Amino acid sequence: MSVTIPPFLDTSHPADVVRWAADAFGVDNLVVTASFEDAVLVHVAATAVPGIEITLLDTQYLFPETQWLVDELTKKLDLNLRVVRPLPEIVPDNLWQSDIEACCNVRKVEPLNRAIAGKQAWLTGIRRADGPTRANAPVAAYDVGRGLVKVNPLAALSDDDMALYVQLHDLPVHPLLDKGYFSIGCWPCTRPTAPGEDKRAGRWSGNAKTECGLHV
Ligand code: SF4
Repeated sequence: MSVTIPPFLDTSHPADVVRWAADAFGVDNLVVTASFEDAVLVHVAATAVPGIEITLLDTQYLFPETQWLVDELTKKLDLNLRVVRPLPEIVPDNLWQSDIEACCNVRKVEPLNRAIAGKQAWLTGIRRADGPTRANAPVAAYDVGRGLVKVNPLAALSDDDMALYVQLHDLPVHPLLDKGYFSIGCWPCTRPTAPGEDKRAGRWSGNAKTECGLHV
């Protein structure tokens, strides 16, 4: 695959970035993964390219409030939602208490690898404002490890940009946001953050781990 990533993407509107990816690779060759901690990526993608498939990685440990947002957005935007779950032999257990790397591997990394198999580009919601580990996230770059182009349409958006987008489009808000959860993953590994803490400090709190293995 030979794709030139145009420099103008750095200053493009997120919807234009999604449209560029659909044109460059073909919509059937894209995977859009959404964590549903907010509605922005889902709304951007579904309005830029109506009918585009949105993938949810269901680890079996999503907060009920996250599932509520999934259901709300699916109805509101008539989403073409694909839910990718762990392999059938993976059932709810207590692995997260003893080995978070192994747990993330079977519930996130392996399902993602299945979801992106054979695809040419992977669109994600990661932003530079998420925290230090994502501060240099490009809008689009070749992901050598995964052998596809990783596209981050929201990379340049600030927290204020996100809040304004939600307000302008009258989108539902994750109920845990008001309770201090500024980064939301699985319930066993997510806590609210204190004022002044990094947004992702509530993920795997007490461990050195800062990423689940998807965005490495
Ligand atoms: Fe398991 Fe926690 Fe990783 Fe979710 S975030 S897959 S519960 S270790």
